[in-house]
Amino acid sequence: MNISSMKRVNRRIVLNMIRKYPGITRKEISNLTGMDPSTVTKIVTDLLKNGFILENGEKSFPGRGRRGIRLVVNPNAINGLVVAIGVQKSCVGLAKFDGSYELIESFETPQNFFDFIHKISDIIKSFIKDVVGLSFSIPGIVDMKKGIIRNAPHLKWKEMELRKLILETIDNLDPEMIMMDNEAKLCLVAESWFNEKIKGLKNGVYIYQSEGVGGALLINGEVYHGEDYIAGEIGHMIVDPNGKKCHCGNKGCWETLISTEAIVQSYEYAYGELKGDSYNEKFLTLVSMNSKRAKGVLMRMADYVSIGILNILNVIDPQFVLFGGMMYSLPDYLVERIENTVKSQVLIPDMMKTKILKASMDIDEARIKGGALILINKYIEKNI
Ligand SMILES: [Zn+2]
Repeated sequence: MNISSMKRVNRRIVLNMIRKYPGITRKEISNLTGMDPSTVTKIVTDLLKNGFILENGEKSFPGRGRRGIRLVVNPNAINGLVVAIGVQKSCVGLAKFDGSYELIESFETPQNFFDFIHKISDIIKSFIKDVVGLSFSIPGIVDMKKGIIRNAPHLKWKEMELRKLILETIDNLDPEMIMMDNEAKLCLVAESWFNEKIKGLKNGVYIYQSEGVGGALLINGEVYHGEDYIAGEIGHMIVDPNGKKCHCGNKGCWETLISTEAIVQSYEYAYGELKGDSYNEKFLTLVSMNSKRAKGVLMRMADYVSIGILNILNVIDPQFVLFGGMMYSLPDYLVERIENTVKSQVLIPDMMKTKILKASMDIDEARIKGGALILINKYIEKNI
C-alpha cells in the first residue's frame, strides 16, 4: 500500500468512527483505533475543513479532569435518495449522513415495471441535485453489480434492467451511484450498523416477513450474497411438501405459512375480512386484536416460525436471529413462545445462547436506512 492510499484508509477509519459513535472525541478515536493522536488530529482538522463533520460541544470525563470536544457528522454533508419498493406499497426517503431520514412519499406500487419507472422518475428528478446517488430496496433477487432485478416473484418482474432504465431516464448520473439490493439484506445492514443489542456480533440471521418472506445472513460481519445473490432466501425453504402453492412455483414453502399474506388469508377465510388496504396493514390489525380467534391464528404462525428457525440454526449456528419486516410488530407473548419452542428443541444446550429478538426498526425505517448505508459507504469508498 502506498502512502496516499494509506492516508485515505486512515481518513475513512476516522470518519466511520465518528459515524458509528456520534459524540466521540479525538482522544477516544486514537484509543479505539490505535492511531497516533497527532494523525487523528490532522485528519479531524481536514474533515472539519471539508464540512464532513462538526464539533458539537464539550465532553467531560468525570473524575479524570480531562475534557474533549465531541465530534459528529454533518447531517447534510452526504445525502442519498432511497426508493423502497414494496409488493403493494412503496416509499421514498431522503437519507442524511447522520443516519436520519425524511419520508418524502408513499404510494401504491404500479404493478407494471415501466409504469413504476415513470412514477419514480418524477420524484427522483426533483431531488437529484441534492443527493450523491440513488439506492433501491427490492422485494426479490437482485444482481447488484449489473443493476438488474432478477426476479421479484410477487410483482412478476423478471430480468428488469433497473439501473439501465434509470440512466436512460435521468441525465448526468454516475452508474456506480445507482445502487440496489434485496430488502431483507438492506434491513440487516441497517440493524447491524444501528442496533445496540447486536453491535459487534458477526454471525446472524434476519427474517423479513412481509407479503412474502425473505431473509439475510450475516457471516463474519458481512452480509452474505452467495454465488447468484440467492443466499438468505429462507422463505422458500420447503417445510410442507403437500402444502399450498408458493409464488415461486413450489409447494409448501415457509412463506406460504408465515407471510402476512398467508396469515391474513387464513384468518379471513375462516372469520371474515380484516381492516386495512394491504396484507401488511391487515396483519397489523390482526396483531392488535385481542380475540381468541386472532390469537389462535397467530400462535399457529409462531409454531411454524419456530420450525423454520430450528432449521436455520442447524445450518448456520448464528449468534442472533432477528424478527424483522412486519414481525417487528409481534407481541411479546409470541416472541417468547417462539423462543421457548426453539430452545426446547436445539441439538446441544450451547445453542440456547443464540439471541432471538425483535428487530429495532420497522420495515420502512430499516429499508431506507439500509439503502442509505450502502450508498453512503460507496460514496466514501470512492471519494474520501
Ligand atoms: Zn416458494
